[in-house]
Amino acid sequence: MNDHTVHNDTINDHTTCCIAGGGPAGVMLGYVLARAGVEVLVLEKHQDFFRDFRGDTIHPSTLEIMYELGLLEELLRLPHQEVRGIEAHFGDRVMHLADLSHLPTHCKFVALMPQWDFLNFLTSHAQKFPQFRIRMQTEVTGLLLENDRAVGVKARTPEGTLDVGADLVVGADGRTSTVRESAGLEVVDLGAPIDVLWFRVKRKDDDPRQAFGYVGAGQFMVLIDRGDYWQCAYVIRKGSFEERKHRGLQAFRDEVAHCAPFLTDRTREIAQWDDVKLLTVKVNHLRRWYREGLLCIGDAAHAMSPVGGVGINLAIQDAVATANLLAAKLRTRTVKMSDLKAVQTRRERAANVTQRVQVFLHKNVLETIFESRETIAPPALLKLVERYPRLRRIPGRMLGMGFRPEHIKVRE
Ligand SMILES: Cc1cc2nc3c(=O)[nH]c(=O)nc-3n(C[C@H](O)[C@H](O)[C@H](O)COP(=O)(O)OP(=O)(O)OC[C@H]3O[C@@H](n4cnc5c(N)ncnc54)[C@H](O)[C@@H]3O)c2cc1C
Repeated sequence: MNDHTVHNDTINDHTTCCIAGGGPAGVMLGYVLARAGVEVLVLEKHQDFFRDFRGDTIHPSTLEIMYELGLLEELLRLPHQEVRGIEAHFGDRVMHLADLSHLPTHCKFVALMPQWDFLNFLTSHAQKFPQFRIRMQTEVTGLLLENDRAVGVKARTPEGTLDVGADLVVGADGRTSTVRESAGLEVVDLGAPIDVLWFRVKRKDDDPRQAFGYVGAGQFMVLIDRGDYWQCAYVIRKGSFEERKHRGLQAFRDEVAHCAPFLTDRTREIAQWDDVKLLTVKVNHLRRWYREGLLCIGDAAHAMSPVGGVGINLAIQDAVATANLLAAKLRTRTVKMSDLKAVQTRRERAANVTQRVQVFLHKNVLETIFESRETIAPPALLKLVERYPRLRRIPGRMLGMGFRPEHIKVRE
Protein backbone atom coordinates (compact mmCIF):
# COMPACT_ATOMS: atom_id res chain seq x y z
CA MET A 1 0.00 0.00 0.00
CA ASN A 2 1.50 3.38 -0.97
CA ASP A 3 -0.70 5.96 0.69
CA HIS A 4 0.30 9.54 1.33
CA THR A 5 -1.94 11.52 3.65
CA VAL A 6 -1.36 14.82 5.40
CA HIS A 7 -2.45 15.11 9.01
CA ASN A 8 -1.57 17.97 11.39
CA ASP A 9 1.17 19.16 8.98
CA THR A 10 2.71 15.69 9.03
CA ILE A 11 2.79 13.73 5.80
CA ASN A 12 1.96 10.06 6.38
CA ASP A 13 3.21 7.29 4.17
CA HIS A 14 3.34 3.53 4.41
CA THR A 15 5.43 0.80 2.84
CA THR A 16 6.51 -2.76 3.55
CA CYS A 17 10.24 -2.06 3.96
CA CYS A 18 11.47 1.44 4.74
CA ILE A 19 15.19 1.84 4.09
CA ALA A 20 17.00 4.77 5.72
CA GLY A 21 19.94 5.81 3.52
CA GLY A 22 20.49 5.67 -0.22
CA GLY A 23 24.12 4.53 -0.23
CA PRO A 24 25.37 1.26 -1.77
CA ALA A 25 23.65 -0.88 0.92
CA GLY A 26 20.31 0.94 0.81
CA VAL A 27 19.97 1.25 -2.95
CA MET A 28 21.04 -2.34 -3.63
CA LEU A 29 18.64 -3.68 -0.99
CA GLY A 30 15.84 -1.53 -2.44
CA TYR A 31 16.59 -2.83 -5.93
CA VAL A 32 16.68 -6.54 -5.06
CA LEU A 33 13.59 -6.39 -2.82
CA ALA A 34 11.53 -4.42 -5.37
CA ARG A 35 12.64 -6.87 -8.07
CA ALA A 36 11.29 -9.65 -5.82
CA GLY A 37 7.92 -7.88 -5.54
CA VAL A 38 8.37 -6.28 -2.10
CA GLU A 39 7.30 -2.64 -1.69
CA VAL A 40 10.21 -0.50 -0.57
CA LEU A 41 10.72 3.15 0.18
CA VAL A 42 14.31 4.45 0.35
CA LEU A 43 14.83 7.73 2.23
CA GLU A 44 18.01 9.65 1.37
CA LYS A 45 18.89 12.88 3.12
CA HIS A 46 20.81 14.47 0.24
CA GLN A 47 19.17 15.79 -2.90
CA ASP A 48 21.41 13.76 -5.23
CA PHE A 49 24.24 11.21 -5.14
CA PHE A 50 26.79 13.72 -6.37
CA ARG A 51 29.23 13.84 -3.47
CA ASP A 52 32.87 13.33 -4.27
CA PHE A 53 33.86 11.80 -0.94
CA ARG A 54 32.25 8.48 -1.71
CA GLY A 55 34.56 5.55 -2.50
CA ASP A 56 34.71 4.58 -6.14
CA THR A 57 35.54 0.89 -6.11
CA ILE A 58 33.23 -1.78 -7.52
CA HIS A 59 34.73 -5.15 -6.70
CA PRO A 60 34.59 -8.35 -8.77
CA SER A 61 32.06 -9.92 -6.36
CA THR A 62 29.80 -6.86 -6.70
CA LEU A 63 30.22 -6.98 -10.48
CA GLU A 64 29.21 -10.65 -10.29
CA ILE A 65 26.01 -9.61 -8.53
CA MET A 66 25.39 -7.08 -11.30
CA TYR A 67 25.86 -9.95 -13.77
CA GLU A 68 23.36 -12.09 -11.86
CA LEU A 69 20.89 -9.20 -11.99
CA GLY A 70 21.39 -8.90 -15.76
CA LEU A 71 22.80 -5.37 -15.40
CA LEU A 72 26.52 -5.91 -15.91
CA GLU A 73 26.85 -5.21 -19.62
CA GLU A 74 24.99 -1.92 -19.37
CA LEU A 75 26.87 -0.89 -16.23
CA LEU A 76 30.21 -1.41 -17.94
CA ARG A 77 29.15 0.91 -20.75
CA LEU A 78 29.49 3.77 -18.25
CA PRO A 79 32.95 5.37 -18.09
CA HIS A 80 35.19 3.41 -15.75
CA GLN A 81 38.74 2.12 -15.33
CA GLU A 82 39.59 -1.53 -14.84
CA VAL A 83 42.20 -2.40 -12.23
CA ARG A 84 43.48 -5.96 -12.66
CA GLY A 85 46.40 -5.81 -10.28
CA ILE A 86 47.27 -3.66 -7.29
CA GLU A 87 50.63 -1.94 -6.97
CA ALA A 88 52.26 0.16 -4.27
CA HIS A 89 55.11 2.62 -4.81
CA PHE A 90 57.72 2.66 -2.01
CA GLY A 91 59.69 5.69 -3.14
CA ASP A 92 61.07 4.59 -6.54
CA ARG A 93 60.32 0.93 -5.95
CA VAL A 94 57.11 -0.52 -7.38
CA MET A 95 55.73 -3.60 -5.61
CA HIS A 96 52.93 -5.79 -6.99
CA LEU A 97 50.52 -6.64 -4.18
CA ALA A 98 47.60 -8.45 -5.69
CA ASP A 99 46.59 -10.18 -8.91
CA LEU A 100 42.87 -10.35 -9.74
CA SER A 101 43.21 -12.10 -13.09
CA HIS A 102 42.43 -15.60 -11.73
CA LEU A 103 39.20 -14.90 -9.85
CA PRO A 104 36.23 -17.20 -10.51
CA THR A 105 34.08 -14.25 -11.64
CA HIS A 106 33.04 -12.76 -14.99
CA CYS A 107 35.03 -9.61 -14.27
CA LYS A 108 38.57 -10.16 -13.14
CA PHE A 109 39.08 -6.53 -12.18
CA VAL A 110 37.97 -3.82 -9.80
CA ALA A 111 35.95 -1.23 -11.73
CA LEU A 112 36.72 2.33 -10.70
CA MET A 113 33.60 4.33 -11.30
CA PRO A 114 32.39 7.45 -9.50
CA GLN A 115 29.90 6.19 -6.94
CA TRP A 116 27.27 8.71 -8.05
CA ASP A 117 27.27 7.05 -11.51
CA PHE A 118 26.83 3.62 -9.91
CA LEU A 119 24.02 4.76 -7.59
CA ASN A 120 22.24 6.72 -10.34
CA PHE A 121 22.46 3.65 -12.57
CA LEU A 122 21.04 1.28 -9.95
CA THR A 123 18.32 3.73 -8.89
CA SER A 124 17.18 4.36 -12.46
CA HIS A 125 16.84 0.58 -12.99
CA ALA A 126 15.09 0.11 -9.62
CA GLN A 127 12.55 2.75 -10.60
CA LYS A 128 11.36 0.44 -13.39
CA PHE A 129 9.80 -1.73 -10.65
CA PRO A 130 6.48 -0.27 -9.41
CA GLN A 131 7.36 -1.53 -5.91
CA PHE A 132 10.40 0.77 -5.66
CA ARG A 133 10.21 4.35 -4.44
CA ILE A 134 12.96 6.71 -3.32
CA ARG A 135 12.53 10.09 -1.60
CA MET A 136 15.54 12.38 -1.79
CA GLN A 137 16.11 15.29 0.63
CA THR A 138 14.42 13.19 3.30
CA GLU A 139 16.41 12.83 6.49
CA VAL A 140 15.39 10.18 8.99
CA THR A 141 15.35 11.78 12.43
CA GLY A 142 14.06 8.94 14.59
CA LEU A 143 11.95 5.82 14.91
CA LEU A 144 8.23 5.32 15.34
CA LEU A 145 7.83 2.83 18.18
CA GLU A 146 4.86 0.82 19.40
CA ASN A 147 5.28 -1.39 22.45
CA ASP A 148 9.05 -1.25 21.96
CA ARG A 149 8.78 -2.45 18.36
CA ALA A 150 9.96 -0.23 15.48
CA VAL A 151 6.92 0.38 13.26
CA GLY A 152 8.38 3.08 11.03
CA VAL A 153 10.49 6.23 10.94
CA LYS A 154 10.13 9.96 11.33
CA ALA A 155 11.83 12.11 8.73
CA ARG A 156 12.42 15.73 7.82
CA THR A 157 11.59 16.84 4.26
CA PRO A 158 11.48 20.25 2.55
CA GLU A 159 7.66 19.98 2.73
CA GLY A 160 7.57 19.21 6.46
CA THR A 161 7.67 16.18 8.73
CA LEU A 162 7.12 12.74 7.26
CA ASP A 163 5.98 9.67 9.19
CA VAL A 164 6.52 6.39 7.36
CA GLY A 165 4.90 3.27 8.75
CA ALA A 166 6.63 0.04 7.75
CA ASP A 167 6.67 -3.67 8.54
CA LEU A 168 10.47 -3.48 8.62
CA VAL A 169 12.85 -0.53 9.00
CA VAL A 170 16.36 -1.02 7.63
CA GLY A 171 19.12 1.29 8.83
CA ALA A 172 21.49 1.68 5.88
CA ASP A 173 22.40 5.23 6.83
CA GLY A 174 26.14 4.77 7.12
CA ARG A 175 28.72 5.22 9.81
CA THR A 176 26.91 8.09 11.56
CA SER A 177 23.62 6.15 11.51
CA THR A 178 20.68 7.91 13.12
CA VAL A 179 18.68 4.69 13.00
CA ARG A 180 21.12 2.67 15.07
CA GLU A 181 21.42 5.48 17.59
CA SER A 182 17.65 5.88 17.88
CA ALA A 183 17.35 2.12 18.29
CA GLY A 184 19.83 2.19 21.17
CA LEU A 185 21.92 -0.60 19.66
CA GLU A 186 25.26 -1.11 21.39
CA VAL A 187 28.33 -0.05 19.39
CA VAL A 188 31.70 -1.80 19.85
CA ASP A 189 34.40 0.72 18.90
CA LEU A 190 37.61 -0.78 17.49
CA GLY A 191 39.33 2.59 17.12
CA ALA A 192 40.96 4.04 14.02
CA PRO A 193 44.26 5.92 14.29
CA ILE A 194 43.82 7.59 10.89
CA ASP A 195 41.80 10.22 9.07
CA VAL A 196 41.89 11.05 5.38
CA LEU A 197 42.48 14.35 3.59
CA TRP A 198 40.56 14.35 0.34
CA PHE A 199 41.44 16.69 -2.55
CA ARG A 200 41.97 16.62 -6.30
CA VAL A 201 44.64 17.62 -8.80
CA LYS A 202 44.70 17.44 -12.59
CA ARG A 203 45.76 14.22 -14.29
CA LYS A 204 48.06 14.23 -17.31
CA ASP A 205 48.23 11.61 -20.05
CA ASP A 206 51.85 10.75 -19.25
CA ASP A 207 51.20 10.27 -15.50
CA PRO A 208 51.87 6.80 -14.06
CA ARG A 209 48.87 4.51 -14.45
CA GLN A 210 46.48 3.79 -11.59
CA ALA A 211 48.30 2.38 -8.58
CA PHE A 212 47.13 1.36 -5.15
CA GLY A 213 49.18 3.75 -3.14
CA TYR A 214 52.27 5.86 -2.70
CA VAL A 215 54.44 5.39 0.36
CA GLY A 216 56.83 8.21 1.31
CA ALA A 217 58.78 9.18 4.43
CA GLY A 218 56.07 9.05 7.11
CA GLN A 219 53.47 9.32 4.37
CA PHE A 220 50.83 7.29 2.57
CA MET A 221 48.52 8.45 -0.21
CA VAL A 222 46.07 6.73 -2.54
CA LEU A 223 45.34 8.22 -5.96
CA ILE A 224 42.09 7.38 -7.74
CA ASP A 225 42.01 7.96 -11.48
CA ARG A 226 38.85 9.94 -12.31
CA GLY A 227 39.70 10.62 -15.97
CA ASP A 228 40.87 14.23 -16.12
CA TYR A 229 41.83 14.46 -12.44
CA TRP A 230 43.33 12.43 -9.60
CA GLN A 231 41.16 12.07 -6.53
CA CYS A 232 43.76 12.06 -3.78
CA ALA A 233 43.27 10.40 -0.40
CA TYR A 234 46.14 11.47 1.84
CA VAL A 235 46.19 9.42 5.04
CA ILE A 236 47.10 11.27 8.26
CA ARG A 237 47.27 10.42 11.94
CA LYS A 238 43.90 11.02 13.56
CA GLY A 239 43.62 14.56 14.85
CA SER A 240 46.69 15.91 13.00
CA PHE A 241 44.83 18.07 10.45
CA GLU A 242 44.85 21.18 12.66
CA GLU A 243 48.61 20.83 13.16
CA ARG A 244 49.04 20.73 9.38
CA LYS A 245 46.91 23.83 9.00
CA HIS A 246 49.22 25.64 11.41
CA ARG A 247 52.26 24.64 9.35
CA GLY A 248 50.61 26.26 6.32
CA LEU A 249 49.34 25.27 2.91
CA GLN A 250 52.75 25.37 1.19
CA ALA A 251 54.14 22.86 3.71
CA PHE A 252 51.20 20.58 2.91
CA ARG A 253 51.75 20.97 -0.86
CA ASP A 254 55.41 20.04 -0.32
CA GLU A 255 54.36 16.96 1.64
CA VAL A 256 52.13 15.83 -1.21
CA ALA A 257 54.84 16.47 -3.81
CA HIS A 258 57.31 14.51 -1.71
CA CYS A 259 54.99 11.50 -1.53
CA ALA A 260 54.09 11.43 -5.25
CA PRO A 261 56.80 13.52 -7.01
CA PHE A 262 55.04 13.48 -10.39
CA LEU A 263 52.37 15.76 -8.87
CA THR A 264 54.91 18.50 -7.95
CA ASP A 265 53.93 20.79 -10.84
CA ARG A 266 50.25 20.63 -9.80
CA THR A 267 50.16 20.98 -6.04
CA ARG A 268 49.40 24.72 -6.44
CA GLU A 269 45.93 23.60 -7.54
CA ILE A 270 45.35 23.10 -3.82
CA ALA A 271 44.70 26.82 -3.58
CA GLN A 272 43.11 27.04 -0.12
CA TRP A 273 42.30 24.79 2.83
CA ASP A 274 38.69 24.65 1.62
CA ASP A 275 39.99 22.50 -1.26
CA VAL A 276 41.03 19.86 1.28
CA LYS A 277 38.25 17.93 3.02
CA LEU A 278 38.82 16.06 6.26
CA LEU A 279 37.15 12.63 6.21
CA THR A 280 36.88 11.09 9.65
CA VAL A 281 37.55 7.36 9.79
CA LYS A 282 35.72 5.09 12.24
CA VAL A 283 35.92 1.34 12.70
CA ASN A 284 33.17 -0.13 14.84
CA HIS A 285 30.35 -2.65 14.80
CA LEU A 286 27.07 -3.32 16.48
CA ARG A 287 26.90 -6.11 19.02
CA ARG A 288 23.38 -6.80 17.78
CA TRP A 289 22.32 -5.63 14.33
CA TYR A 290 18.57 -5.74 15.00
CA ARG A 291 15.70 -5.27 17.34
CA GLU A 292 12.05 -5.95 16.76
CA GLY A 293 10.94 -4.36 13.46
CA LEU A 294 14.44 -3.08 12.64
CA LEU A 295 17.71 -4.23 11.09
CA CYS A 296 20.98 -2.39 10.39
CA ILE A 297 23.28 -3.28 7.49
CA GLY A 298 26.38 -1.87 5.78
CA ASP A 299 28.36 0.78 7.63
CA ALA A 300 25.41 1.33 9.99
CA ALA A 301 26.08 -2.19 11.32
CA HIS A 302 29.88 -2.15 10.87
CA ALA A 303 31.65 1.10 9.96
CA MET A 304 34.65 0.28 7.76
CA SER A 305 38.02 1.94 7.37
CA PRO A 306 38.92 2.95 3.80
CA VAL A 307 41.91 0.55 4.02
CA GLY A 308 41.62 -1.97 1.21
CA GLY A 309 38.64 -0.12 -0.27
CA VAL A 310 36.25 -2.93 0.66
CA GLY A 311 33.42 -1.18 2.56
CA ILE A 312 31.18 -0.69 -0.48
CA ASN A 313 31.52 -4.34 -1.42
CA LEU A 314 30.63 -5.47 2.11
CA ALA A 315 27.63 -3.12 2.20
CA ILE A 316 26.37 -4.60 -1.06
CA GLN A 317 26.92 -8.18 0.09
CA ASP A 318 24.91 -7.36 3.26
CA ALA A 319 22.10 -6.01 1.09
CA VAL A 320 21.99 -9.13 -1.09
CA ALA A 321 22.04 -11.47 1.92
CA THR A 322 19.23 -9.44 3.55
CA ALA A 323 17.09 -9.68 0.42
CA ASN A 324 17.82 -13.42 0.06
CA LEU A 325 16.79 -14.11 3.64
CA LEU A 326 13.87 -11.71 4.03
CA ALA A 327 12.13 -11.14 0.66
CA ALA A 328 9.65 -14.03 0.93
CA LYS A 329 8.87 -13.21 4.58
CA LEU A 330 8.37 -9.54 3.78
CA ARG A 331 5.94 -10.51 1.02
CA THR A 332 3.89 -12.55 3.49
CA ARG A 333 4.43 -10.05 6.34
CA THR A 334 5.88 -12.75 8.57
CA VAL A 335 9.34 -11.38 9.40
CA LYS A 336 10.34 -12.42 12.92
CA MET A 337 13.27 -11.51 15.18
CA SER A 338 14.85 -14.86 14.35
CA ASP A 339 14.88 -13.87 10.63
CA LEU A 340 16.70 -10.63 11.47
CA LYS A 341 19.13 -12.56 13.61
CA ALA A 342 19.76 -14.86 10.63
CA VAL A 343 20.98 -11.87 8.60
CA GLN A 344 23.48 -10.94 11.30
CA THR A 345 24.62 -14.56 11.64
CA ARG A 346 25.16 -14.79 7.90
CA ARG A 347 27.12 -11.52 7.52
CA GLU A 348 28.76 -10.72 10.84
CA ARG A 349 31.81 -12.94 10.50
CA ALA A 350 32.80 -11.53 7.09
CA ALA A 351 32.48 -7.97 8.45
CA ASN A 352 34.34 -8.68 11.68
CA VAL A 353 37.21 -10.56 10.00
CA THR A 354 37.60 -7.72 7.47
CA GLN A 355 37.65 -5.17 10.28
CA ARG A 356 40.29 -7.18 12.13
CA VAL A 357 42.47 -7.16 9.00
CA GLN A 358 41.97 -3.39 8.69
CA VAL A 359 42.87 -2.80 12.35
CA PHE A 360 45.97 -5.02 11.90
CA LEU A 361 47.04 -2.95 8.87
CA HIS A 362 46.43 0.32 10.75
CA LYS A 363 48.69 -0.85 13.57
CA ASN A 364 51.37 -2.73 11.67
CA VAL A 365 51.66 -0.89 8.38
CA LEU A 366 50.26 2.64 8.69
CA GLU A 367 51.69 3.28 12.18
CA THR A 368 55.10 2.04 10.96
CA ILE A 369 54.89 4.37 7.96
CA PHE A 370 53.88 7.37 10.13
CA GLU A 371 56.80 6.76 12.49
CA SER A 372 59.42 6.48 9.75
CA ARG A 373 61.64 9.43 8.85
CA GLU A 374 62.44 7.97 5.46
CA THR A 375 60.49 5.81 3.03
CA ILE A 376 60.15 2.41 4.67
CA ALA A 377 61.42 -0.68 2.91
CA PRO A 378 58.59 -2.90 1.69
CA PRO A 379 57.60 -5.38 4.46
CA ALA A 380 59.04 -8.92 4.17
CA LEU A 381 55.65 -10.35 3.25
CA LEU A 382 55.39 -8.00 0.27
CA LYS A 383 58.88 -8.97 -0.87
CA LEU A 384 57.80 -12.60 -0.82
CA VAL A 385 54.69 -11.79 -2.85
CA GLU A 386 56.86 -9.80 -5.28
CA ARG A 387 59.22 -12.75 -5.67
CA TYR A 388 56.55 -15.43 -6.21
CA PRO A 389 53.87 -13.94 -8.49
CA ARG A 390 51.42 -16.81 -7.87
CA LEU A 391 51.17 -15.67 -4.23
CA ARG A 392 49.60 -12.42 -5.46
CA ARG A 393 46.45 -14.38 -6.16
CA ILE A 394 45.76 -14.75 -2.41
CA PRO A 395 45.46 -11.01 -1.63
CA GLY A 396 43.74 -10.71 -5.03
CA ARG A 397 41.05 -13.11 -3.88
CA MET A 398 40.66 -11.52 -0.43
CA LEU A 399 40.34 -8.09 -1.95
CA GLY A 400 38.27 -8.97 -4.99
CA MET A 401 35.81 -11.39 -3.41
CA GLY A 402 35.80 -10.59 0.29
CA PHE A 403 35.35 -13.32 2.90
CA ARG A 404 31.83 -14.44 2.06
CA PRO A 405 30.63 -13.40 -1.38
CA GLU A 406 26.84 -13.50 -1.77
CA HIS A 407 24.76 -14.47 -4.79
CA ILE A 408 21.28 -13.41 -5.86
CA LYS A 409 18.89 -16.16 -4.74
CA VAL A 410 15.58 -14.30 -4.84
CA ARG A 411 13.65 -14.57 -8.07
CA GLU A 412 12.13 -11.69 -10.03
C1 LIG B 1 37.55 8.39 3.70
C2 LIG B 1 36.90 7.10 3.30
C3 LIG B 1 37.14 6.58 2.03
C4 LIG B 1 36.57 5.36 1.65
N1 LIG B 1 36.85 4.83 0.42
C5 LIG B 1 36.34 3.64 0.08
C6 LIG B 1 36.60 3.05 -1.20
O1 LIG B 1 37.30 3.61 -2.05
N2 LIG B 1 36.04 1.83 -1.47
C7 LIG B 1 35.25 1.19 -0.58
O2 LIG B 1 34.75 0.08 -0.88
N3 LIG B 1 34.97 1.73 0.62
C8 LIG B 1 35.48 2.93 0.97
N4 LIG B 1 35.19 3.45 2.18
C9 LIG B 1 34.21 2.77 3.04
C10 LIG B 1 32.84 2.99 2.40
O3 LIG B 1 32.63 4.38 2.18
C11 LIG B 1 31.69 2.45 3.25
O4 LIG B 1 32.05 1.21 3.83
C12 LIG B 1 30.44 2.27 2.38
O5 LIG B 1 30.12 3.50 1.76
C13 LIG B 1 29.26 1.79 3.21
O6 LIG B 1 28.08 1.84 2.42
P1 LIG B 1 26.68 2.10 3.12
O7 LIG B 1 25.66 2.09 2.04
O8 LIG B 1 26.52 1.19 4.26
O9 LIG B 1 26.81 3.56 3.77
P2 LIG B 1 27.09 4.97 3.07
O10 LIG B 1 27.82 4.83 1.81
O11 LIG B 1 27.65 5.84 4.13
O12 LIG B 1 25.63 5.48 2.69
C14 LIG B 1 24.75 5.94 3.68
C15 LIG B 1 23.74 6.84 2.99
O13 LIG B 1 22.76 7.23 3.97
C16 LIG B 1 22.52 8.62 3.87
N5 LIG B 1 22.08 9.06 5.20
C17 LIG B 1 22.85 9.20 6.30
N6 LIG B 1 22.09 9.56 7.35
C18 LIG B 1 20.82 9.61 6.89
C19 LIG B 1 19.57 9.91 7.50
N7 LIG B 1 19.48 10.23 8.78
N8 LIG B 1 18.45 9.88 6.73
C20 LIG B 1 18.51 9.55 5.41
N9 LIG B 1 19.68 9.28 4.78
C21 LIG B 1 20.80 9.29 5.52
C22 LIG B 1 23.83 9.22 3.41
O14 LIG B 1 23.65 10.46 2.77
C23 LIG B 1 24.33 8.13 2.45
O15 LIG B 1 23.86 8.34 1.15
C24 LIG B 1 35.73 4.67 2.57
C25 LIG B 1 35.46 5.20 3.83
C26 LIG B 1 36.05 6.41 4.22
C27 LIG B 1 35.77 6.95 5.58
